[in-house]
Amino acid sequence: MLSRPRPASGTLAVPADHPLVLVVEDEPSYVEALTVALERAGFDVVVAQDGIEALASFEAVSPRLVLLDVMLPRLSGIDVCRRIRASSEVPIIMVTARSEEIDAVVGLEVGADDYVTKPYRIRELIARMHAVLRRGELGSERQTSPESLSVGDVRLDPERHEVSVREAEVRMPLKEFELLHLLLANAGRVLTRETLLRRVWGTDYVGDTKTLDVHMKRLRSRIEEDPSSPTRITTIRGVGYRYELASRP
Ligand code: CA
Repeated sequence: MLSRPRPASGTLAVPADHPLVLVVEDEPSYVEALTVALERAGFDVVVAQDGIEALASFEAVSPRLVLLDVMLPRLSGIDVCRRIRASSEVPIIMVTARSEEIDAVVGLEVGADDYVTKPYRIRELIARMHAVLRRGELGSERQTSPESLSVGDVRLDPERHEVSVREAEVRMPLKEFELLHLLLANAGRVLTRETLLRRVWGTDYVGDTKTLDVHMKRLRSRIEEDPSSPTRITTIRGVGYRYELASRP
């Protein structure tokens, strides 16, 4: 475990108070690059290089955020995540080496807030870190609320039941509206198909899950520039959907 003093600012917005991040990673090349980049972005960094050390460091330093590799010596990232979740709501971002691991991370609901897949772009990672930190401040369970929401140029007003895209009003049926509301309220976070079905159609919903696909397709046709290659609501194959915080190019 090592700790370093804070560095000069980079090009990304620097958080007001250097949040402490526990980086759990066993590959030296990643540790080196991450430490430099995160410190430049205004984070304080503590590194643990295996699962057991991660739990000890977590207890010792009480980080504001955990960046957790899945494949680790001694104790896997998934086990570390579960153990931390047993006692803490700290934001956790899992780092997976293969996209197949996403199922394990998100599908098994080990309690991670988000994930990135190696190789990732450092700017994207830092954007996700900021997003989970903001959510952490707002409470970990993000329910839909009566306040209006906007992400990018899409805006939703629950009280008036209005949606606009680039300031132009878009009309939609109730279920699509509720689906969009839930996605926007959790922008940047993966929502599983089960979660969407349960929250929009109710706990007893046992119908064909094609219902979700049909509604998603209609919703995309209303809010996406090109519904055949969506940039706002992206599909996380085999898992669910995520409303993107910023449209990708
Ligand atoms: Ca690893």
